[in-house]
Amino acid sequence: MAKIAFIGLGNMGGPMLRNLLKAGHECVAFDLSAPALAAAEQAGARPAASPGDAARGVDGVITMLPAGTIVRAVYEGPGGVIANAAPGTLLIDCSTIDVASARAVAEAATAAGLSMVDAPVSGGVAGAAAATLTFMVGGPPETFEAARPILAAMGGTIVHAGAAGTGQAAKICNNMLLGISMIGTCEAFMLAKRLGLDAQKLFDISSKASGQCWSLTSYCPVPGPVASAPSNRDYQPGFAAAMMLKDLKLAQEAAAGVDAATPLGAAAAALYSLYCNAGHAGTDFSGIIAMIDGSD
Ligand code: NAD
Repeated sequence: MAKIAFIGLGNMGGPMLRNLLKAGHECVAFDLSAPALAAAEQAGARPAASPGDAARGVDGVITMLPAGTIVRAVYEGPGGVIANAAPGTLLIDCSTIDVASARAVAEAATAAGLSMVDAPVSGGVAGAAAATLTFMVGGPPETFEAARPILAAMGGTIVHAGAAGTGQAAKICNNMLLGISMIGTCEAFMLAKRLGLDAQKLFDISSKASGQCWSLTSYCPVPGPVASAPSNRDYQPGFAAAMMLKDLKLAQEAAAGVDAATPLGAAAAALYSLYCNAGHAGTDFSGIIAMIDGSD
């Protein structure tokens, strides 16, 4: 079992840390939030005073933070992880951040004699609690192999996406597709309603026809057809619209950086921006059906 520092103990990081402890790893924890740190201590982790303090004397460091600027500060800042971790320490950033920041941090880590992967996740808070997250991992093959047994304590599917930054690339490409397909699914149900076609009938037909997609069959935005979908619990997340907007913006930023035209991704980002600004940032992302339907 390894000695692991965990930094960023929020909705995702908290339960991920608990699964590492459950698997028998010895954990040190750090978060700016005193209640989050206290909860980690209660779960069995040793609290640290700073990212650098957490990173000293451990085999690996895992971060689960809100944004690229914060990830860069935690790793590269004074008193940060890179300045304090022993050579050879394995660094795993599980945050969803921009590809450029992920690559810059990995370069700084490698230059300091550390090995690093970006390993963003899908599966949400429920997946974090159940240790069934999917990890998309970018970095050298040997670093991926070293990270795999640690990630296995927190997830079910662990995929090597390629070189540094490709984990983040996989995450934003997937979520751009998800945002677009959710809006498309919402438009289909809205049109069906106006044409006098019952929502359950559209579901029964499209889920067996060429319109089939995850947004329809696993996360249906109209109540009824999929019992586990947030549409049946007043669109409580799930996956909050603010999170979807964050990922769509990251996709647009990445697309601009490589001259990729993603007009549907841009439209999805604009629609989710309108939806969040209308007071629905905390609503599940499938709740956008009310705005598309004009009933919101
Ligand atoms: P969160 O806001 O609940 O947690 C973030 C934690 O980081 C907070 O506890 C905060 O205090 C801490 N933090 C912020 N700055 C810090 C610093 N400088 N040093 C130490 N700690 C600091 O967010 P979350 O929902 O846990 O998401 C974390 C990451 O996971 C994000 O990148 C998000 O995009 C990604 N993600 C979230 C979900 C989800 O469903 N929540 C799903 C997939 C991926």
